[in-house]
Amino acid sequence: MKVRYSYLKQQFSNCPDLWSKLKKFVSTGDFTLGKELGFFERKFAQLIGTKYAIGVNSGTDALKISLKAIGVKSGDEVITAANTFVATVGAITEIGAIPKFVDCDDTFCMNVEHLEKKITKKTKAIVPVHFTGYMTNMPKLMKLSKKYKIPVIEDACQSILGSINNKNAGTWGLTGAFSLHPLKNINVWSDGGIITTNNKKLYEKIKLLRNHGLIDRDTVKINGYNSRLDTFQAVVGNWLLPKAKQIANRRIKNAKYFDNEFSKIKQINIPPRPKNMKVVFHLYIIFAENRDELYKYCLKKGIEAKIHYPKPMYLQESVKYLGYKKNDFPITDGHCKKIISFPCDQHLTKKQQNYIISTVKKFYIGTKN
Ligand SMILES: *Cc1c(COP(=O)(O)O)cnc(C)c1O
Repeated sequence: MKVRYSYLKQQFSNCPDLWSKLKKFVSTGDFTLGKELGFFERKFAQLIGTKYAIGVNSGTDALKISLKAIGVKSGDEVITAANTFVATVGAITEIGAIPKFVDCDDTFCMNVEHLEKKITKKTKAIVPVHFTGYMTNMPKLMKLSKKYKIPVIEDACQSILGSINNKNAGTWGLTGAFSLHPLKNINVWSDGGIITTNNKKLYEKIKLLRNHGLIDRDTVKINGYNSRLDTFQAVVGNWLLPKAKQIANRRIKNAKYFDNEFSKIKQINIPPRPKNMKVVFHLYIIFAENRDELYKYCLKKGIEAKIHYPKPMYLQESVKYLGYKKNDFPITDGHCKKIISFPCDQHLTKKQQNYIISTVKKFYIGTKN
């Protein structure tokens, strides 16, 4: 049996209604900052629970433009998680700021206990990453943000509809950054991103920043970027967005089934599942003994398992100049050796899930450890 990781071929394989919408849209010529984009932004803000949302070119740009909008400059320090995806760090370095890393805990998010000692006079923003669909401990983090008056930009790219105490990712900080990349839980057909905020001033500034700083076609107010979400992609987004909750719930259901079965295998450890947290499982990751062998065995058996990631961001060559060394972030390092990801998406069938579970069981019976 084959279990694919990416479900993209299935996701848009049967959507005649979307095709007819796109056909109609193309004949309007409303391609740049069009009506459908405005509609998508309002619906997205409504879904997440903020006053505003602004579509941009990518999740990376959502972070970069947020940082720019709150005034982060070259030489400023920005605190983020040591285990994050490259894009968080790319957004920080692109504006010349210096990433300062904090180790994660077993929920794959920044351990907020270690945050305070990283704060210096140069710290101009904190970027918690709600990695894999978990949430950073935002109640605690926001207290520190208030105490030190340091703004928070949430990297919510992997955690659309994730929440703590029913308060969604992207509603805690000054802004929330989301990605609509094809591999994310809510996706379009190209790169795309969106920024959420409750702050009217920031909303206005971000709208300028994403569109060359133009107030109108003849008036440039500030130096900005070309980072608009294509209206064409907003049409796709408008088709998918009503399914967002259903997609999250299906992933949660799949994860529960996995958790229940994997918890019967003594060589598997399941990360904590805090009761007040809604984890939306952009990635379904467990800790496995003998991980490298299990990984190879799964691939051989046709299961496209993944490792997110074998080498942590803070040790990549691109950030060597920051001077971090191996073992600086022991939890992140430990994860690299024992994490394994299985598909958990809304198109995964029960049969495929059962095959993954039985394959993992078989592996450990075979190795007798
Ligand atoms: C995907 C992702 C991004 C960036 O999104 P893009 O749309 O690919 O630019 C940023 N941070 C995290 C944690 C991500 O997973």
